[in-house]
Amino acid sequence: KVEKIIHNIRSAGPGKLQVISDFDMTLTRFAYNGNRCPTTHSKILFNILIYIYIKKNKIGHYYPIEIDDTRSVEEKTPLMVEWWTKAHNLLVEQQIGKDQLAEAVRESNAMLREGYQGFFDLLKHHSIPLLIFSAGVGDILEEVIRHNGVFHPNVRVFSNYMEYNEKGVLCAFKEPLIHTFNKKESALLNPDMFGQLQDRPNILLLGDSLGDLTMADGIQNAQNILRIGYLNDKVEERRSAYVDSYDIVLEKDETLEVPNAILNYITEGK
Ligand SMILES: [Mg+2]
Repeated sequence: KVEKIIHNIRSAGPGKLQVISDFDMTLTRFAYNGNRCPTTHSKILFNILIYIYIKKNKIGHYYPIEIDDTRSVEEKTPLMVEWWTKAHNLLVEQQIGKDQLAEAVRESNAMLREGYQGFFDLLKHHSIPLLIFSAGVGDILEEVIRHNGVFHPNVRVFSNYMEYNEKGVLCAFKEPLIHTFNKKESALLNPDMFGQLQDRPNILLLGDSLGDLTMADGIQNAQNILRIGYLNDKVEERRSAYVDSYDIVLEKDETLEVPNAILNYITEGK
């Protein structure tokens, strides 16, 4: 099945392709030298926030629910909204200034996966749109991409964006709230964007949670979708669910080697 999809995408050429990707733990590393890397929720003032998250609000309580595949999406959704709302409120309470953001990103150890330069540059070179859907914080992930020098014009981000007051201090998050399980709806909320992309019926989808699989649902007339899933954590328990849902499953792979090899093959000689 994978060979057939790749063959079809290659035959149609890069002009018919778009890439849809999650951000945290998909384009960024899950771990480096055995330590977990932060997500865009936890990057700012990392140590303080992690402390507040875990100690005060028992946010450690929500992550096992998020990745529990025995619970339905319907059951998990209200809990995700609760988690995200608490996390956003905590960030607002920190009175973060706009200028502190870039500084925090520079100091954080958020890392894009090995091979990111080749990935972003190849997509730019072939004018292949890269749509990033993230339940993290858009302002921060944009800063991470910019900081790494790969925020090319073909990159579009759909995420949670901060709102600043007249003093340049974070005061709220813009609607709609995007969490792990409603990326599909957020895709449908952007019909203009998807209208422009309708002549690109082939999709390379990258994700690390089962919720990420719905990211391409806003695309009408999709013809060939190749789904690549990063299985970063709880590998043994989750392997069969991932293998059933993704076309390719990458276990504890901290690189973009596989997507890069496929993109190189698809665009070769074009
Ligand atoms: Mg993710």
